[in-house]
Amino acid sequence: MSNARKNALQTVVNREVVSPRIAGTKVSDYYASNVFNDAAMREYLSEDAYKAVKSAMQSGTKISREIADAVAAGMKSWAMSKGANSYTHWFQPLTGLTAEKHDMFFTPKGDGAIEVFSGDALVQQEPDASSFPSGGIRATFEARGYTAWDPGSPAFIMEIGDGKTLCIPTIFISYTGESLDFKAPLLKSSHLLEEAALPVVHMFDKEATKVTATLGWEQEYFLIDEALFYQRPDLMFAGRTLLGAAPQKGQQFEDHYFGSIPERVYAFMLDLETECHKLGIPVRTRHNEVAPAQFECAPMFEEVNVAVDHNSLLMDLMERVARRHKLRVLLHEKPFAGINGSGKHNNWSMGTDTGKNLLSPGKTPKNNILFLTIFVNVVKAVSEYADLLRASIASANNDHRLGANEAPPAIISVFTGSYMRDVLSEIEKRVSKDKYDELSNANLKLDIHNKIPDVLLDNTDRNRTSPFAFTGNKFEFRAVGSSANCALPMTIMNAIVAKQLQKFKAEVDKLVKGGETKDGAIMRVLRQYISDSKNILFEGDGYSDAWEKEAKKRGLSNVKTTPYALDFYTSKKAKEVLVDTGIYSQRELEARVEVFHHNYILKIDTESRILADMATNQVVPVALDYMNKLIANIKGLKELGVAATASKAQKEIVSEIAVHVNAIKVAVDKMNAAREKAHHAKSNADASKNYCDKVKPYFDEIRNSVDTLETLVDDNLWTLPKYREMLFIR
Ligand code: ADP
Ligand code: MG
Repeated sequence: MSNARKNALQTVVNREVVSPRIAGTKVSDYYASNVFNDAAMREYLSEDAYKAVKSAMQSGTKISREIADAVAAGMKSWAMSKGANSYTHWFQPLTGLTAEKHDMFFTPKGDGAIEVFSGDALVQQEPDASSFPSGGIRATFEARGYTAWDPGSPAFIMEIGDGKTLCIPTIFISYTGESLDFKAPLLKSSHLLEEAALPVVHMFDKEATKVTATLGWEQEYFLIDEALFYQRPDLMFAGRTLLGAAPQKGQQFEDHYFGSIPERVYAFMLDLETECHKLGIPVRTRHNEVAPAQFECAPMFEEVNVAVDHNSLLMDLMERVARRHKLRVLLHEKPFAGINGSGKHNNWSMGTDTGKNLLSPGKTPKNNILFLTIFVNVVKAVSEYADLLRASIASANNDHRLGANEAPPAIISVFTGSYMRDVLSEIEKRVSKDKYDELSNANLKLDIHNKIPDVLLDNTDRNRTSPFAFTGNKFEFRAVGSSANCALPMTIMNAIVAKQLQKFKAEVDKLVKGGETKDGAIMRVLRQYISDSKNILFEGDGYSDAWEKEAKKRGLSNVKTTPYALDFYTSKKAKEVLVDTGIYSQRELEARVEVFHHNYILKIDTESRILADMATNQVVPVALDYMNKLIANIKGLKELGVAATASKAQKEIVSEIAVHVNAIKVAVDKMNAAREKAHHAKSNADASKNYCDKVKPYFDEIRNSVDTLETLVDDNLWTLPKYREMLFIR
């Protein structure tokens, strides 16, 4: 066997379980110990400073320089008491990764040094922005960018080995004030949603003073051994296997899902959870997923901004904790062909400061009308702006998953569950279009009241094939990719629902002005929305061909690749919902789309180069080696005077190998030529389409030949770890 592969396998077989680092006997003993949370703020901040931060968190009020100095001093004392000697603004640029630039507290003074951390350093920093994507916003002569403190997400201490750093969540903007990150638009969308939702909530509940979007993500991932990872250039540089024949045993037995967790993986999970808990990330569930070597973790939901930060932080932690266990975490949406990919379900709802979940049916008829109002408006929003949701989850990675008969399709539809479907059709039937009928409305309210609370939670069927499903007290956006930053889909979600609620309020107000009662107006508008959004409702099998046909008939979009999905951002509706509302300026939106196209180009370009290299320099030489062995054998038999029939099989294999070697060479050459041409285009949008339509199709062609060779060539010669080795060795 090729030595490197053999050594790697030997290493894996001899691995010992790395003991998890125990932080304490009870999670509550160390939970959020590395977070500058309420308790820490009370201890380390003056009364004034504490109140100012709280008010900034709750209502976005500005913090004065004086107070900022006081907060910084308190934060520094707290961080130093935890052993931190440096700090960083922590932000989420459009690379999709998190970014940090560390500075130390100390400054030389006299003979020695003192530790300082000023309000200025807390509030604003100026990292060199020139190497972060800006989509043309940041001219090269003006490389400055700023990070600005987001008091809405608590500062925390990141421990790397023995080093400890105070991390301050920030937004990232250009010198001219345009957003260059995922967080700034998310914050704007949350604000917009609150402004739009509060007046609607007040129609029913005067006590609420705040509405926030909530997010509970579920993160899927693969784990493979580090030694095997290093033998695969595709995994190292593209995060997915570009080659590899399907294993004899795949996931067809479905014996991995919820199965017992392998001990090494379990140790990894325990360590990960400990790190999460110290950082106040409320992860609570862990289990095996459907594919071999695939797992999932999920937290309690939180306010969307904090939840997004926590997910970004989690992805970073996973990477680091995995290394401690000599494992590699694969967050790619489709690391292995032929078995399930990974998603990141985004469970989304809205809650009030009075503790009410707006998507949870209440105990009184009045509350149920509020629930119905929010429910129907969300469905209407999705129906109206489905294309934007599709665009929000577009990435080169996720293209492999959407519509691959294992993940939600690229067609956006809403699953309501049969119970809610019946409720909706009853409203449509019984509420008259033009006139509000007090009597039947009263009955209707009662019906809903009697049925919903009891039935709903168990009755929301587990249809896993829907990209957007109501699951009893929240909507679950399942088409989000596992490596994505949730901020973007959540920004779009907040924005479309906000826009929709604004329209709703205006329509109800208009009817009321025209003499309709408030209840009547609400029911009639809801009734209209139910009729308008029927097309988006789908309860059947989202993976089926029949649904593709049906969706086409209904006029729903089914855009399977990113470069085309990104075009939705340039539509009139996108402008209405994203620009007119102030979430992005026109320039910011255009710049962002540029960046997304560019990311796509980079991804396909890199994959294509890796694939060409692996096929040419790792696969073909091995195939030729084996061919030579066979040829020597054939020649030897001939020399011995053995009948030609004895070398028949060898000759056949030789010619089969030759056919595939040739096919690989031809396809690689064509792909390289197509790649050279692809970026000669008028715009990034055109270039990304070239990559998609003219370069990417060769991937499968090359792969088919390589994977066939894998099944023909002597296993001892093959240098690349095989699927069965990466997926089934524990
Ligand atoms: P599943 O069966 O899909 O795993 P769970 O009931 O375990 O569903 O919940 C999945 C996620 O939904 C969890 O992260 C949970 O915190 C989140 N969730 C529950 N309620 C809400 C809510 N009101 N808003 C947002 N997310 C929520
Ligand atoms: Mg789920």
